[in-house]
Amino acid sequence: MKYAFLADIHGNLDALQSVIRAVEDDGGIDRVCCVGDLVGYGAQPGECVALVRDLGWPVVAGNHDYAAIGNVDLSYFNPLAREAIEWTSGALAEEDKEFLGGLPLTWEEDSLVMVHGTLYEPESFGYILSELDARMMFRLLDKDFCFTGHSHYPCVFVEGKDIVFSREPEVKVETSERALVNVGGVGQPRDGDPRACWVAYDEDARTVAIHRVEYDIKEAARRIIDVGLPEPLAERLFMGT
Ligand code: ZN
Repeated sequence: MKYAFLADIHGNLDALQSVIRAVEDDGGIDRVCCVGDLVGYGAQPGECVALVRDLGWPVVAGNHDYAAIGNVDLSYFNPLAREAIEWTSGALAEEDKEFLGGLPLTWEEDSLVMVHGTLYEPESFGYILSELDARMMFRLLDKDFCFTGHSHYPCVFVEGKDIVFSREPEVKVETSERALVNVGGVGQPRDGDPRACWVAYDEDARTVAIHRVEYDIKEAARRIIDVGLPEPLAERLFMGT
């Protein structure tokens, strides 16, 4: 089985459509999975929810998905994010909200589990930023692979004798090893590379590949300004921060 993982779409339909085309062009993907945060920050949350819903992918909830329907306290968020969530909440149709409210926090199949933040209290949406965080995750992980999002920073932690952090575009995971994969961000990358990000996972070969896709950033930024969302949310798209 070959999987594609997409996370942190954040209402950026231009980026999402470009990534979907790239996944289709790849040719070998059997299943696409979404690791949460369909909405928040971007100008087309409803369009992104509708597209993902219609495609029937497995999806887990992100903190912005739950916040947009009132499931997460807004004090969790910084002022810019809060403003975006309030705007998003007003922009979503009832059926979009129902879809987001019905999303599970984790989803698993065969060799893998996916969760937006951490396996420890997934509803708290914690971050995996250090080797120590990764160690805690591996303790809770009963599969060989875990796919996460949330930080918008693509990277892989491989647990063998030690835990090794990698930012290589392709990582091979031996049968004696396990991996924790952050699949980066589709709609708001934060690793200094403004291109949209997705990850391919080949279950048989045990490889994980990080892919980057050019998309029309100018258009996505223009839409953010046009709907009256804060300007820094448009500017950061050009910088990938
Ligand atoms: Zn996010």
